[in-house]
Amino acid sequence: MSRIDLHLHTTHSDGSLPPSEVLKLAAKASVTALAITDHDITSGIPEAMATGRELGIEVIPGVEISCFDGTSELHILGYCLDWQDSVLNGRLASLRASRHRRNPLIIERLRAAGLDVTYDEVRALAGTESVGRPHIARLLMQKKYVSSAKEAFDRYLAEGKPAYVPRDLPAPAEAISWIRDAKGVAVLAHPTWVKDSGDGLGGRLTALKEAGLGGVEVHYSTHSKTQTASYLELAKRLDLLVTGGSDFHGLTKPDIEVGYGRGDLRVNPRLLEPLKAAAAARS
Ligand code: AMP
Ligand code: ZN
Ligand code: FE
Ligand code: FE
Repeated sequence: MSRIDLHLHTTHSDGSLPPSEVLKLAAKASVTALAITDHDITSGIPEAMATGRELGIEVIPGVEISCFDGTSELHILGYCLDWQDSVLNGRLASLRASRHRRNPLIIERLRAAGLDVTYDEVRALAGTESVGRPHIARLLMQKKYVSSAKEAFDRYLAEGKPAYVPRDLPAPAEAISWIRDAKGVAVLAHPTWVKDSGDGLGGRLTALKEAGLGGVEVHYSTHSKTQTASYLELAKRLDLLVTGGSDFHGLTKPDIEVGYGRGDLRVNPRLLEPLKAAAAARS
């Protein structure tokens, strides 16, 4: 049965496969349309589009921007945006620069814990300007300090662990406006991440909608059936678009497959038209 997947990472950020390889996996998974949503960078989109043309898969330009709302880190996806827009790319470059300010501080902490790692090694392994903690996790795996990315996060990199260093993140309203300025549609990623600050997810989504949010990622690899149903109900009640995707990263999330997530994900191709229509209304 055909499906779509609107949340995929490649080697242009912290995924472990290049866009062409992600597209090949998508073809095997009967994915008819997909979005490349690398963190803070759009450079993987042309390769994805070229391979998409060869394989007959529609490629939606996308991006994922990490934000901090005062209580929790939440991620905003941008879809159907003008990914070549210089203002957008300048803004994304500033986010990548903040990664390069934080990452060496993480390395210092790992070294203080006795691990022999350098930021040059991380950058060489990453091979992209959008360098994230999963790259550091992969270096720790290569050097046999840990046996999985999960172990790297659990022991060192996750919030509250010895090598955790926060980075400067934009407010969600800012990321939403950047996406809208580039004629895209902004969508709240994996709503399970949103910590309750008292007004519930409905209150949060209402505020984000006032800031220009267009949709919510209802279908996601790790959502339970109950969560999916409650997000769907919220999206309907607040008149937000429904999207979905696997958040495939390859090696750093080895249990997640393109198109299938943990096996039971299926994002209906019918969700694509409303998203494209919302973007068309913006341009
Ligand atoms: P960064 O953007 O550099 O702060 O890294 C955050 C990214 O690390 C997230 O977007 C996830 O893709 C990934 N991540 C967070 N927690 C974990 C974990 N426990 N295992 C693997 N990847 C994770
Ligand atoms: Zn990621
Ligand atoms: Fe995310
Ligand atoms: Fe993601």
